[in-house]
Amino acid sequence: CGIIGVCTRVDKKLNTGDVVYKGLLRLEYRGYDSAGVASVEQGVLRVLKGKGKIADLEKKLGLSRVKGSVVIGHTRWATHGAPSDVNAHPHTDCTGTIAIVHNGIIENYRELKEELAKRGHVFKSETDTEVVVHLIEEFYKSGDRPYDAFKKAVSMIRGSYAILVVFASAPNTIFFAKKDSPLVVGLGDVANFVASDIPAILEHTRRVITLRDGWVGFVTGDSVFIEELGKGPVNPMEYVRVVEW
Ligand code: GLU
Repeated sequence: CGIIGVCTRVDKKLNTGDVVYKGLLRLEYRGYDSAGVASVEQGVLRVLKGKGKIADLEKKLGLSRVKGSVVIGHTRWATHGAPSDVNAHPHTDCTGTIAIVHNGIIENYRELKEELAKRGHVFKSETDTEVVVHLIEEFYKSGDRPYDAFKKAVSMIRGSYAILVVFASAPNTIFFAKKDSPLVVGLGDVANFVASDIPAILEHTRRVITLRDGWVGFVTGDSVFIEELGKGPVNPMEYVRVVEW
């Protein structure tokens, strides 16, 4: 179980699909039963995912060939819902325009799922994770901006999580949240990264921020914003360190 995301500066060319695919291979040691990626290119969200080995999924689906200013990827260690193509991450909302990857466990997913089902949400998977993307959709639909919708949803979930979210309507941004599951931000020259561990992004940058519990924020191709949920902004530059390897 691991996650990785890359966000390029719009004017720079980087093979984002390949970056995420290679990152997933480096996260393999953590153990997994399924994998998948989501990309946003020109306002269109695409998801490729399935049960099985990353190299096999690459042959079948061409994970490394996805294109987009933003790509996120996931290796799953199933906790809620059997390993299957449908239960593999990323998960999407009802409109197919918001995608999430998550490591950890959403402890209150049952009550959230019941509430959302009453409001008409149809769930595709048996995972705890899928409720979070529907919750984001619910706030987004009611008029919140992507980041506000994301933050409101995060403030309602309990449990452990490293989460990445992308919106088709925010083609140059990855939203993140962390509690009791590891997550680091990597600052590069032509792109920024978010991943479960440093080796997954080390080929691209040595400037990293180790995120703390309760932190949420977002990266774009050339910026990073972090805040402590409910408390206010954190100065990211105070936490940047250069990794010796
Ligand atoms: N609880 C989530 C699931 O079962 C995430 C598991 C993981 O950390 O990979 O899908």
